[in-house]
Amino acid sequence: MASGRLLGKTAIVTGSASGIGQGIALRFASEGANVVIDFRSHPEAGEETRAKAEAFGVKAILVHADVSKISDTQNLVEQAWTQFGGCDVLVNNAGVEKHAAFLDVTEEDYDTVLDTNLKGAFFLTQAFVKRLQSAKKPGVVINISSVHEDMVFPNFSTYCASKGGIRMVMRDLAVELGPMGIRVNNIAPGAIATPINTALMADKPKLNALLANIPLGRMGTTDDVAGLAVFLASEDGGYVTGSTFVVDGGLMRNYHEQ
Ligand code: NAD
Repeated sequence: MASGRLLGKTAIVTGSASGIGQGIALRFASEGANVVIDFRSHPEAGEETRAKAEAFGVKAILVHADVSKISDTQNLVEQAWTQFGGCDVLVNNAGVEKHAAFLDVTEEDYDTVLDTNLKGAFFLTQAFVKRLQSAKKPGVVINISSVHEDMVFPNFSTYCASKGGIRMVMRDLAVELGPMGIRVNNIAPGAIATPINTALMADKPKLNALLANIPLGRMGTTDDVAGLAVFLASEDGGYVTGSTFVVDGGLMRNYHEQ
């Protein structure tokens, strides 16, 4: 039988068929939360995550939602309420990045990154909060932003625009939604070993240069991020809103672009 700090809670985690989102969904399940697993393109990985979550003794459902489509975000929230009768926590994790020098950025690249990382999180949060408001319930929103909500990342200007944007949305919503009992925070990971970093991890010289900049001397794991997400989602984080929490092994304090 499940027990833990999130017992009786329900959480939506976007982009949770892989990487950080998967790690958070499984850690939430291990802490007793029912979870809504969202995937965009890999149903089999989503199903595997759903089954692993249920092995913790909670309920987990799998929903296909491309967060860049507003109708999909509304359906995602709808599914959570229909299947679980409510939802307490939203983790805006789904994200993409595109490498391009500023002068080479296409409109398509820009739209893909901003529509997923910023617009998607924005309107999914709106749909989630509307439901909370009509049910007169409190809630928690956690955005997985990045150290690049604050730190330069040459050749990733679209990514920086999206993550810097979500930083200010978080601060704004913490003030607007606080009176409704809704807490909003960001987690800003540094370099975490997930599929988004496949190319980097395969490039030894680049990887070693990065590791030399990380005081703790290693890349982070999805568990390093998930533990903080549990804290923010739980009552332990009950007085915490409007902040960004950096999980980067010290990278931000010691970063030198090559
Ligand atoms: P990942 O590629 O494994 O995860 C991203 C997930 O988002 C994937 O499952 C992908 O299918 C999903 N996704 C992409 N576009 C989507 C869309 N339109 N709708 C729904 N799902 C979509 O990589 P990750 O490292 O786990 O990334 C998760 C989040 O963490 C991202 O927001 C990323 O920017 C952020 N982040 C990662 C790192 C890192 O070093 N790994 C560092 C800082 C921030």
